[in-house]
Amino acid sequence: MKRILLKLSGEALAGEEKQGFHEPTVRKVALQIKQLVEEGVQVGVVIGGGNFWRGRTSENIDRTKADQIGMLATIMNCIYVSEICRAEGMQTAVLTPFECSSFTKLFSKDRANKYFDRGMVVFFAGGTGHPYFSTDTGVVLRAVEVEAEVILLAKAIDGVYDDDPKKNPAAKKYDEVTIDEVIAKNLQVVDMTASILARDNKMPMLVFGLNEENSIVNTVKGKFNGTKVTV
Ligand code: UDP
Repeated sequence: MKRILLKLSGEALAGEEKQGFHEPTVRKVALQIKQLVEEGVQVGVVIGGGNFWRGRTSENIDRTKADQIGMLATIMNCIYVSEICRAEGMQTAVLTPFECSSFTKLFSKDRANKYFDRGMVVFFAGGTGHPYFSTDTGVVLRAVEVEAEVILLAKAIDGVYDDDPKKNPAAKKYDEVTIDEVIAKNLQVVDMTASILARDNKMPMLVFGLNEENSIVNTVKGKFNGTKVTV
């Protein structure tokens, strides 16, 4: 694979605590990214914000403001993971859809391409830059814009199931599923807005468990144990 976008949830950075950062967990991810970059894969990263804040679950705050806090949480996450990647010897850049002074650089396709071509890990922080969206939509949007080959969705669960395996032990995991089926059955691989964007722009997704040893690298190398969402 030439260029991939990796999506991590905010919780993936938090380990058992579910809040904040768990450095050993993040380092494991960073080392896998490093291996891919060293093998010539261009890696972009989008990270959620759930380890700090979710706009939609705040009850007494205006949704637009709550979502702004959520977007800022994703930037904190990207700066953190970017720094862990740097500590492991990688070059990185954090791009945002709005100005954050010198903390980040403003996203443009040209700028992202320039960094990818230099072998840098490119973090797309701040989601779409708009409230009422999610980093699911952010990752699909950026993947389409920078013409990534595929999106890697590293999740707490090891693939896409036809029912919630926690509630229904008979739930069946798909090896492959079309985006149309994901939408029709509301399988929640990514949220609906992101699903439609992926369908309309033919962006495939690979869903797998982040906790499985070396799963990011294995997925890129075709040793794939999750669910492929075809378009
Ligand atoms: N967010 C937003 N616009 C975006 C991306 C994210 O408003 O384009 C906000 C939203 O409040 C969201 C939070 O940032 O809840 C964290 O993003 P994430 O996608 O992780 O949301 P989650 O799925 O955890 O709610």
